[in-house]
Amino acid sequence: MSVDHIKSVISRDNEAFETPCYVYYPERISENYQRLKAALGTSLIISIKANHSIDLLSLISNEKDGYEATSEHELNMMALMKGRLCFLNNPSFNGELVRKAVSAKVQIIVDHPHQIRLLEPHISKIRPVMLRLNTGLLKQYLPEHPGMRKDHFGMDMDNLGIAIDKLNALGIPVEGIHLFKGSYSFNSTAIPTVEAIQALLPIIEERLGYPLKKVNLGGGLSAYWDQEGFDFAEYRARLAPLQERYEVLHESGRAVFAASGYFLTKVVSQKTINGHHYAICDGGLAQSFLLAQTENTFRKVKQPEMWWAQENTRETANSTVEFAGGSCNKDDIIGKLPAGSRMPETGDIAIFSECGAYNATYSPVNFLGLPKAKEYLLLDSSQE
Ligand SMILES: *Cc1c(COP(=O)(O)O)cnc(C)c1O
Repeated sequence: MSVDHIKSVISRDNEAFETPCYVYYPERISENYQRLKAALGTSLIISIKANHSIDLLSLISNEKDGYEATSEHELNMMALMKGRLCFLNNPSFNGELVRKAVSAKVQIIVDHPHQIRLLEPHISKIRPVMLRLNTGLLKQYLPEHPGMRKDHFGMDMDNLGIAIDKLNALGIPVEGIHLFKGSYSFNSTAIPTVEAIQALLPIIEERLGYPLKKVNLGGGLSAYWDQEGFDFAEYRARLAPLQERYEVLHESGRAVFAASGYFLTKVVSQKTINGHHYAICDGGLAQSFLLAQTENTFRKVKQPEMWWAQENTRETANSTVEFAGGSCNKDDIIGKLPAGSRMPETGDIAIFSECGAYNATYSPVNFLGLPKAKEYLLLDSSQE
């Protein structure tokens, strides 16, 4: 188990990791990617915004179908990786970002008709574009489709018509459609979405006047995608007719990265207020915002695994122990041990699992100018 591996690395060398830090296992990320791609039975692209460790991305860049970038920073990262399918996807791209994407031969996902004016200067060089559909179309064209939370991405049928007419007038070819229904949407919507898309494609192709080649169905798979009982065999069977005519793609961030990343923070002090124990840590929400769960209605912070600096058993905590970070925010509580646990002390290290996606990228590191978490890569070959 990786947590045991991390603990054994620290036991051998207490200074192996400078905390707060992230530890990633690149080989396991690649294995997970291959398993997910096989389960889906389609092409699979990686959403770069889930993990910005450039060393990690370049290590895993072999044998991946491609990537999706949302910013100039991510376009630059994408340039260092190999991928047959590379996309830029952002409703707010500007002319400069389009110029960069075109010269890098990255395909542009058109979010709405007004963006098309930015493509005009590049007509001779631009790769065929993708059209992003708004998720509202799914229920509109298949009433049995589960309702989805309204969002501002992509196009409704009127917008699609306008975009198609503009692109046809400019002679910019459309290669396919793109759809993303949001994180965690996969299990409940994947199968009806295939049906809705089958109803939508002929309408779009008729307006376009020629057939499409690619269908990106998005993703929204969770970090536990292989443990939730979703029937992937059934899903692959439903996709088969679509795959006779189109290359079908999915995209994922968290399902690829989350399980193979860990956040480590060291206990630097301890205190008890009115019987409540706190372990004060060198890292907190500034380096791993998601652990504080401030965006969840019901916060239930994770229980970390502990690497104990000292062998001898110490005091048992008679209340829960909360792990507090170093910002001056009341919400900077990132973990909890139950009452009855061994009491953490200075020098102990808390290890949080499932931190490989978004924990590092979705963190307010500029707040207080606190240090950014370091990132380490561990290879399985380093395990004995
Ligand atoms: C963020 C994002 C993803 C990745 O979402 P996960 O939940 O990490 O799989 C995929 N597609 C688009 C368009 C996104 O914005």
